[in-house]
Amino acid sequence: MERLDVSDGFDVHDYRHGLKLLKQDRGSMTLENRHGFACPACGERFDRLFVSENRENTFGKPSSPICLVRTDERLLLLTH
Ligand SMILES: [Zn+2]
Repeated sequence: MERLDVSDGFDVHDYRHGLKLLKQDRGSMTLENRHGFACPACGERFDRLFVSENRENTFGKPSSPICLVRTDERLLLLTH
C-alpha cells in the first residue's frame, strides 16, 4: 500500500491518478481515495482526504476515526 509522503510537504498532483476531487473551495479541497493510498499518520487505508491552506477549519461531528497531518503550508485531515 502506497503511503502519502508528506515529509517535504504535500502536493496533490503527485497523487492525482488515485485521488478524485470531490469538492474544492477557496483554500481547501476534499478528495476521495480511489487507489488505496495509506494514511501518512497511521498507515491504514483512508477514505477521504481534506486538504486545507486555511488557518481556521470547521467540521461537523465525525462519524469515523480521523487522522490529522500537518505540513508547513497545509493541514491534512484523513477519514477512515
Ligand atoms: Zn490515519
